[in-house]
Amino acid sequence: MNAEPQTQLRLLDLAAVDAEMLRLRHRRRTLPEDKELDRLAEELRARKDDAVGKEIVLDDLDRDIKRHEKELSQVRMREEKDTELQRGGTLPAKQLTELQHELDSLARRKSIIEDETLEVMEQREAAEADLQHAGAQVSHVESQIAEVKRHRDEALADIETAERRCATDRDAIAGSFPAELLALYESRVRAGGLGAGVLNGGKCGACRIELDRGELARINAAPADRVLQCPECDAILVRK
Ligand SMILES: [Zn+2]
Repeated sequence: MNAEPQTQLRLLDLAAVDAEMLRLRHRRRTLPEDKELDRLAEELRARKDDAVGKEIVLDDLDRDIKRHEKELSQVRMREEKDTELQRGGTLPAKQLTELQHELDSLARRKSIIEDETLEVMEQREAAEADLQHAGAQVSHVESQIAEVKRHRDEALADIETAERRCATDRDAIAGSFPAELLALYESRVRAGGLGAGVLNGGKCGACRIELDRGELARINAAPADRVLQCPECDAILVRK
């Protein structure tokens, strides 16, 4: 295939736009915000698990408090009943003594339950503070996620703008090539490589591989309008 050296040179403009497109695509795939969002999602899961654990502790303590309150009310009822019997004055001395023993033991039991309840109440206070702290940490991570998402969306919008600009540039440049030359170029792009590279210092500008002397001699001997391809990457090799 032949093409004017000037036309071949312009392929480098097209290749520059395509290289920019590739850079943008790579940037889109490797946004640091996406990595950060993955990390934050994991952190959020852990924080939520932690908050659920703290909630369970609090629920258990609430259950303990209720159990203590119920027991305390049972002891008080028994106490009232016994006190009434005692005041009735109709019981024989032996039973009155037994009743007094029971009242003494109820009083001891009551005092133990009250102490225990106080202790659990204190634990509950601490557990509630823990839960509040855990909840605040969940909110903090959630707001971090919202912030990073905002940055990510801004970066994506920038990339989209740049991609649209590249597409416009590309359309303008690509329209000016002979169909056959453009088809050869595009076939290399479709294969995932660069369509064209400049020959510079014995190296292909597309794959950056140094060509051997035999190849260089063959290239130098070729007419200027001959379209050559890199023996390594098949990109159109443009001579300056
Ligand atoms: Zn090459």
